[in-house]
This record gives sequence, C-alpha cells and structure tokens, in this order.
Amino acid sequence: MRIVLLGAPGSGKGTQAARLVEHYQVPQISTGDLLRAAVAAGTELGKKAKAAMDEGQLVSDDIVLGMIRERLDQPDTERGFILDGFPRNIAQAEALDTMLAELERPLEMSILLDVPLDKLMKRLTGRMTCTECGAVFNRYTNPPDSDHQCDHCEHELVQRGDDNEETVRRRLEVFQEQTAPLIEYYERDGRLERVDGERDIEEIAADFRRLLDPIAPGKR
Ligand code: AMP
Repeated sequence: MRIVLLGAPGSGKGTQAARLVEHYQVPQISTGDLLRAAVAAGTELGKKAKAAMDEGQLVSDDIVLGMIRERLDQPDTERGFILDGFPRNIAQAEALDTMLAELERPLEMSILLDVPLDKLMKRLTGRMTCTECGAVFNRYTNPPDSDHQCDHCEHELVQRGDDNEETVRRRLEVFQEQTAPLIEYYERDGRLERVDGERDIEEIAADFRRLLDPIAPGKR
C-alpha cells in the first residue's frame, strides 16, 4: 500500500493516518513530525528548518526530499507507506514519482481529505496533541474528557507552536498556492480519490478502508 494523504493543514490527515497505521500495519511518514523531531533534537537539519516552520512557510525541498529518501530506505516501508504532509508542492511530487520509479515501487493512490478552507482556522487553533502518544484532540470539535489531559494515556496535551492564528493563516495560504495544485497533478492521471472530511471521524475512516482494502498488504 503506497499512498499519499493530501489535504490542507487541519483537514484530519494525521488522525486518519494514525488509524490506518493500526489497521493495516503500514508506517505513516509525516514530514511535519520528522521535522519537529529534528527541531526538538537540535540537529543541523532542525536548525535549518525551524525558521520556515515558525513562519508557516515550507521548508526547502532539498531538506525534505533528503529526509524522505532516507525514510523510504528503511525496511519497514516494504509493506508500503502512508505519506502525510508530503508532497507539498509540484516539485516534491515530481521528485517523489522519480524516486519511487527508481525503487520500482510506484505510488498507488493519492487521497484528498476534502474540508472547505473556512472550516480549518477553528480546527487548527483548537488543536491539542498528547506529548506522550501523539493523540490529537480539538477544543471545539473533539474535546478530551479532561481539559489538558489525554483520554488514552493521561499525559499532558499541548498546542503546537505553529497553531496560532497568524501562522495558521500563512499555512493555509501556502496550501492554496503551493499544495492545492497537486489535486490536479494526481487527478490528471487517475491517481486521485476524494473523501469528504467534514463528517464524523468514524465515517471518514470507513471511506478510507473502502478505498484501501483492495491495495492492502497481502491482498495483491
Ligand atoms: P505539518 O505538521 O504537516 O503541518 O507541517 C508543519 C510544518 O513543517 C509546515 O508548516 C512546514 O513548515 C514544514 N513541512 C512539513 N512538511 C513539509 C514538506 N513536505 N515540505 C516543506 N515543508 C514541510
């Protein structure tokens, strides 16, 4: 199962990806998570990426492509992978196609999680993530039982630094300008599927499984 999850920041890609990982036992590769880990560890790569991330701009393609190349070399990707937050522009999508052609493991599907842009501001500024297990909640749309605590592991919930209103606005602009053209890129050669992301998490998950069951590992 080799797929890309396409969708604006806050569309629910991370939430659905976590479910797919559990269901299909295929790794999620999130460039955002990899970059945040590099920033937290204070690596050279993290230092280079931090300013762009703080501003809600894209990190340079060479940094992100290097990270992806390294990650796709890991043996756990043999069953497939779920790319989340990558590619973010046409140059990255073309580079990914070239990389996967060389590996003789072409992309099978790209799934757009479709949410109108005007709904995303609230989703993003209300988002809270567990510092321990990575579970995602939302103050407005999916609140935890207790205000600052994870329902699953009871660790602290925090807001991401780039989920403030100003940075969110910039990230949504960047999505529209640079990432939205990927919808047409994948649609053109029949690789795009759309899922309505404005429904209940369970209903969306059921749509994903309907699309992905036929290409699940072991099914081919
Ligand atoms: P995300 O968690 O996917 O919303 O990503 C958080 C931030 O990391 C983005 O606002 C970008 O600054 C950076 N980032 C994540 N993925 C990419 C990518 N594929 N290309 C460039 N920058 C990225």
